[in-house]
Amino acid sequence: MMTRLLKLSTIWFDKGHWFFDHGADLKTEFAPEAISALVLGWYAAHARDLPWRRTTDPYAVWVSEIMLQQTQVKTVIPYWERWMRELPTIQSLAEADLEKVLKLWEGLGYYRRARAMRQAAIWLVENNGGAFPSTHAEILNLPGIGPYTAGAICSIAYNQPTPIVDGNITRLISRLERIQKPVDDSKVKALIWKRSGALVAAAARQGQDTGARNCSALNQGLMEIGATICIPGKPLCLLCPIQTHCKAFKKGDQERYPQLPERVSYTRRNFIAFIIERDGRFLVRKREEKALNAGLWEFPNWEVLNDSEKESLLQKAGLPGSAAPFRKIKHTITRYRITLEIFKAPSAGNSIWDASSTESSWMTLEQLQIVPFSSAHAKIREFLK
Ligand code: SF4
Repeated sequence: MMTRLLKLSTIWFDKGHWFFDHGADLKTEFAPEAISALVLGWYAAHARDLPWRRTTDPYAVWVSEIMLQQTQVKTVIPYWERWMRELPTIQSLAEADLEKVLKLWEGLGYYRRARAMRQAAIWLVENNGGAFPSTHAEILNLPGIGPYTAGAICSIAYNQPTPIVDGNITRLISRLERIQKPVDDSKVKALIWKRSGALVAAAARQGQDTGARNCSALNQGLMEIGATICIPGKPLCLLCPIQTHCKAFKKGDQERYPQLPERVSYTRRNFIAFIIERDGRFLVRKREEKALNAGLWEFPNWEVLNDSEKESLLQKAGLPGSAAPFRKIKHTITRYRITLEIFKAPSAGNSIWDASSTESSWMTLEQLQIVPFSSAHAKIREFLK
């Protein structure tokens, strides 16, 4: 009998299964029902006991998902617990001072995430009676929430069949399907979302009559397998519940996937910072409203483009132009490789800081602990102890 085949470009549906034309592997089967059942079974037996998994409160899930972006689970746990103790509701977040919110976030980086959450909480109190919305479209409208986070909140808090795609799931599906193109290709991205959607839809069907929270379990199970088994580099395939469906495992070339976009080239930037102490107090300033890391505190610092600029700044701060730094910090922010040289300057009298229009202050060591600092400047604060 002729096969009924509906074919759209390189993706098509046939006999209840999705197929994808990879170029090399022309027609490969994808079986969402079978994969979903395996993931659900594995997750029921192996899910890690994480504090945010003990609740379905959408606010708590939201906080965990935002914190987990670009941050490892073990780092997030104490931050999430402290945040939920201090700001247990949307109302409490909306009413909190920005400085308190940033302090609770200190060390997690990408501070705009914390600012956006507070902004969203204020909006929800003013426009939605302080309640967290329950539809994907409404959640997606909140500041700081993209398709991944909206999908995660809908599935985890409300058990809705919304797909999610993060780095872990991208890696897992790329290997499962041996996707030959770079993962930043728009068709590849669309395919991965589609695969993720097919899996969570299958999980929803499988849980339909049982009342099981399958959408939540499936999405968290995929993330968990990606984070603990289908790890970057050498995946632990012998522990993988979906090994029999994995095309990369069958070919033995798992480490070739995901195909990564071309490497971004890093730009080097050099900064100098001064520790200026007077009678047990240290000079610091709050970053301006529109600056990157706005609202965070920092030690006096400047970007230097060449040696003569650096010498001139050192001399203005009362140091010889050839002074050696007290400490050096190297860190990376997005595409910048930053070197921060730290100098102890003799006094504030010769400081170039006073010309700054930003809010500055002399703080004791204890006061420095209370206000939020960016990660690099929090390290300088640690050197003072
Ligand atoms: Fe990843 Fe290996 Fe599982 Fe394939 S079999 S999904 S490569 S862990």
